[in-house]
Amino acid sequence: MPYRRYVLDIDRLRADIPAYSDTTGQSPVFLDSAGSSLPPRVVLDTVISHLRREAEIGGYRAAAERLDDLDAARSDIATLINAAPASIALSDSASRSWSDFFYSVPLEPEDRILISGSDYASNAIAALQRARVTGATVETIPSDSTGQLDLEALADMVDDRVKLVSLLHVPTNGGLINPVAEATAIAHRVGALVLLDACQAVGQIDIDVTDLGVDALSATGRKWLRGPRGTGFLYVRPEVCRDLEPGRLDLRGAAWIDPAEYRVADDATRFEFSECDVAARLGLGAAVRYLLDLGPAAVYSAISDNAEYLRLHLPGIPGVSVHDLGTRFAGIVSFTVTGRDPLEIRDRLRESDVTITASHRASTLLDMTARGLDTVLRASPHAFVSTGELDRFLDALDAAITRGD
Ligand SMILES: *Cc1c(COP(=O)(O)O)cnc(C)c1O
Repeated sequence: MPYRRYVLDIDRLRADIPAYSDTTGQSPVFLDSAGSSLPPRVVLDTVISHLRREAEIGGYRAAAERLDDLDAARSDIATLINAAPASIALSDSASRSWSDFFYSVPLEPEDRILISGSDYASNAIAALQRARVTGATVETIPSDSTGQLDLEALADMVDDRVKLVSLLHVPTNGGLINPVAEATAIAHRVGALVLLDACQAVGQIDIDVTDLGVDALSATGRKWLRGPRGTGFLYVRPEVCRDLEPGRLDLRGAAWIDPAEYRVADDATRFEFSECDVAARLGLGAAVRYLLDLGPAAVYSAISDNAEYLRLHLPGIPGVSVHDLGTRFAGIVSFTVTGRDPLEIRDRLRESDVTITASHRASTLLDMTARGLDTVLRASPHAFVSTGELDRFLDALDAAITRGD
């Protein structure tokens, strides 16, 4: 890890969370930041107060009052991933961002699209659809013996017919961190574009798009960034952006300058549409600012420590197997319980106010099929989860397993 171990004031962090401070008694054990995390109070207040303001004076005037904050949301996201603000397009989800870029890449018959072994269903579906329409092919980059993306296999696969490589930074179903910078360098040798799905990475591991070298990156607001649902963003490398006309445009991404002419925006706003949920977007800005103020490095190392703690202790519970792949691990801990229905375990934990989720084969079909897995349980502790709560989860899991025997 490139960062030092920083100390985070976890009491302050927890005091900022409505879900903790507004309950009396024992706090809920929340282990689903890979699904949809708990926001800090500033995010909730930002969204609600903007909705109120819209109801008072109408959405146009309410938005006009917050233009600086909307700009700040874009530039704070840029700061977080070391990009220029003009390279960020705000959107309403990671998948929207991913497909906005993907569907803009010109493809011809015989062109090749490479996807990752741990690729996400929505990305694979889009690739298959585009291949059917254009006559391009979709091929999978194999995984190596550790389960991460196989760089040697990728180097052997690429040729100048490869137009786009879809990389997964951290998959949805486990703690794997793929070697993105190395894979990007290989793809660039043949001039292929690299689109990085960083949905499970942004907000929990350090991301520097300049170091990674990717041409585009998509991410969501609601997971590790702790923003509102229905928010996301796309980063597009400026050199690539200039030559890539989005597949769909509206009056935000382009200007109607003559009866028969339009001009596409110079920067990544060409990938934006005009209408959006302004309150949610302001909420996303508040979430990113909150993270920057805390110090991302401190947050990332706390997440990593929490996940390591679970990886250390889960195997001590009879019947539990941890399934995370790779050599570097992120904050998602995936596991199964021998002979037990994962959904039943998940629901039993819910009765003890412990939230974990399940990740199904259909979300990461290639990887789960290759490993013979149908459903894995997924615990994804953010920095705000205390060690005491991790222990409560481990105890509740042990009890749920024992009770079912
Ligand atoms: C959640 C997730 C997505 C989709 O994010 P949306 O905001 O729902 O579009 C994409 N890729 C990965 C790896 C994910 O985990």
